[in-house]
Amino acid sequence: MTVKKLSPEELLGLNKFVVDEEEPHIVLDKTVCARCQEKPCLYVCPAVLYTLKEGEMNFDYAGCLECGTCRVVCKDKGIIKWTYPRGTFGIAFRYG
Ligand code: SF4
Repeated sequence: MTVKKLSPEELLGLNKFVVDEEEPHIVLDKTVCARCQEKPCLYVCPAVLYTLKEGEMNFDYAGCLECGTCRVVCKDKGIIKWTYPRGTFGIAFRYG
């Protein structure tokens, strides 16, 4: 029997997200992000949700894995809100 190995992108694609459109669970102060020299969130987010767009921090909480890594590394406090999503919202992990 041959077992197909899935790539990280394929495994992430198996997860189910219910996005809370009314209340983001992570909120940034982009003026703080603009001053931050290191911008560690660009490198640590396993879902690659932080990107630079024309020099400005771009972030979409919709694919968040709720790992909390960005909250830990954001030493300049550009993340002004980090909570788990409200009940019934967020990620449902599938197959690990
Ligand atoms: S909690 Fe984890 S997955 Fe979600 S935005 Fe932060 S680093 Fe990315």
